[in-house]
Amino acid sequence: MKLVQLSETDQLELKMLGRDAFEVNGQISVKEGKVTKIQYRKGQTMEPCYNGCVLNFHTHPPDYDTLYPDHPSATDFKYIHKATCQLKELSAHLVCTPKYLYVIYYKCKNPIFQCFDLFTIRSRIDAKFKKLSLNFDRAGEDFRQAWMKEMCATGFNVQRYSWGDEIRFLVPEFRLNFYQKLIFVILLVIAARVIFFT
Ligand SMILES: [Zn+2]
Repeated sequence: MKLVQLSETDQLELKMLGRDAFEVNGQISVKEGKVTKIQYRKGQTMEPCYNGCVLNFHTHPPDYDTLYPDHPSATDFKYIHKATCQLKELSAHLVCTPKYLYVIYYKCKNPIFQCFDLFTIRSRIDAKFKKLSLNFDRAGEDFRQAWMKEMCATGFNVQRYSWGDEIRFLVPEFRLNFYQKLIFVILLVIAARVIFFT
């Protein structure tokens, strides 16, 4: 595991990006536990991390009239499963809401579970979200607590901080980057040729 610390300046930068009326997403470079660079762009579609990112993030604008910005959405959790486990391009994802900073990753299991998750996790996330939305007011803390608890039970690691807290957290360290994955696939193809065609 790798320890990451967000300084007051890093927090302020992320919090300020969250004040915009539009969603912002970006990547955070980390070296020896400290943030070295925060790059961002407007929009909802996350930029892929071909070289393996430690962290990336997106913001939820403070639109309390039409949205419930203070909790991660079902779509957010589906993306996080894909990026931190299925593709392993990322150690963790940050969701910056008006009130909170969420640090989330999926605790990737063995290949058998990964295969099961691949086919079922999206519908399980949707089902849990739907069930809770019917039973709780999505603007309230009860919903947020129940939602975080359900997602932890599903296999996510969810840490939530209030802005201004001391923000230090651990994220999984080993992630393959795009080129390492490419080498792995090439080796696999060579091995398959040796086994099946010689
Ligand atoms: Zn979101």
